Amino acid sequence: MPELRLGNLTLHAGHGENLLDKLLAEGQTVPWSCRGGYCHTCLVQAQPGQAPAEACHTLTAEQREAGWLLSCQCPVVQDMDLRLHDPTCDDLGADVVSVMHVDNVLILRIAPERPLRFLPGQHLALWLNSQLGRPYSIASLPGEPWLEFHIRLHASGTFSRAAADLKVDDRLFLGAATGTLQYDADWQDRPLLLLAAGTGLAPLQAILRHALERGHAAPIELWHWSTGDCYIAKRLEELADRHPLLTIRLQRRATMADDIRQLRIASRRTMALICGDPGFVEQLRKPLFFAGLPGRQVLDEAFHSRPQ
Ligand SMILES: Cc1cc2nc3c(=O)[nH]c(=O)nc-3n(C[C@H](O)[C@H](O)[C@H](O)COP(=O)(O)OP(=O)(O)OC[C@H]3O[C@@H](n4cnc5c(N)ncnc54)[C@H](O)[C@@H]3O)c2cc1C
Repeated sequence: MPELRLGNLTLHAGHGENLLDKLLAEGQTVPWSCRGGYCHTCLVQAQPGQAPAEACHTLTAEQREAGWLLSCQCPVVQDMDLRLHDPTCDDLGADVVSVMHVDNVLILRIAPERPLRFLPGQHLALWLNSQLGRPYSIASLPGEPWLEFHIRLHASGTFSRAAADLKVDDRLFLGAATGTLQYDADWQDRPLLLLAAGTGLAPLQAILRHALERGHAAPIELWHWSTGDCYIAKRLEELADRHPLLTIRLQRRATMADDIRQLRIASRRTMALICGDPGFVEQLRKPLFFAGLPGRQVLDEAFHSRPQ
């Protein structure tokens, strides 16, 4: 039976038992959100070399070298010396610079105490305190004076309800940036189709602005579906005014099924990027395939949330 050593405590786990389940069953407070390996809020530190590859392959090289692992993805297959993650001392501090509420979206700007390394479209775990963190996409670009996030406020959401009360100068903590939803320099002359629902717009508008800054030379079509008006309609319209190759379509979620039926793929070389809630991402995969886009030309990111 593998042994888990945690401070003065020694626990015995079944071979292959899930580490997060074991720690929670033993009364340890390990935060978690998705349990699917996306949110990076259930980090635990082991001795370097003790983490199975499947528990750390999405972490940064620095995190892996330091022994961090995602406990929800970790089968216990050997003895481990563990330390629980505390974002208030292990992660990067940041202060709130501005908060803006637009309908049910909080546009939050924060200044990290050191520059954060990230690529446009990536996401990170945002922590309100040592226990409450959720993953959010970075809506700003590297080099901008703040990090921006677009947080949809859910009436029953633990994080988003607390985030709604954030004020200027409040302190937050940031995990490392991660995620594969990114612009590839090789796409420069390929049409881009960006499809977002709700705050799924956060990473896609960052990728869009990055592509335009890099002189993307083919047409870009951005579709956004939301229940009300698009929360950053003005910004997007200004961008489209300045870039003739950009078309934006701001639609209501109610018309989505019809809109999807009318989607036309400009070229067989089009790259499609999808982001939003899991149902939205699922709804688009098949139509894009039947419209002639092979899976390798479709990148998506689903905003998986904590199961009820
Ligand atoms: C990689 C990644 C990136 C993400 N980026 C963003 C982002 O940029 N902006 C953003 O707003 N969110 C984003 N999310 C989702 C975010 O992490 C939280 O799951 C979400 O904000 C809900 O957290 P909460 O604590 O408010 O709700 P929780 O307390 O976690 O959930 C409580 C309840 O709220 C309701 N709820 C939660 N999410 C949804 C939903 N999508 N639709 C309907 N009901 C819901 C459900 O009833 C749920 O059971 C991302 C998720 C992932 C995995």
